[in-house]
Amino acid sequence: MKNKNKNIFRKLRSILINSGYDVVLTGRFNPPRDIRGLRFRSVKGYIAPDSLKIYINKAMPVNDRVITLIHELLHEMYPVWTESKVERESKNIFQSLTVPQLGFIQFFVMTKPEINRTLKQQPFHSPIC
Ligand SMILES: [Zn+2]
Repeated sequence: MKNKNKNIFRKLRSILINSGYDVVLTGRFNPPRDIRGLRFRSVKGYIAPDSLKIYINKAMPVNDRVITLIHELLHEMYPVWTESKVERESKNIFQSLTVPQLGFIQFFVMTKPEINRTLKQQPFHSPIC
């Protein structure tokens, strides 16, 4: 299980970094009907392989976006999987993520203000010299 997690996370990370896919956080969530190459649509997110974009509904809480991003990446990795298998596996993978792995994926689905709030606005104290 540990190794399985490591492998699947490596694949997810590799697609996120190397495939050229852009993760687009969008608020108006009405996927246009005429996007070319659009394979999967839902109110949570969808992947548009022709334009190399993964759209995520930013109205959802951050970890719901994480699951949605994993979901869309699984569609890309395993085109033959059924929707229900992708749905099930994305939840399983989410549950098995370590904290650093979760943080890595969260970074892709957070808006700038959210990242600022989370990372930059932590109080700090000067070290005692
Ligand atoms: Zn799907």
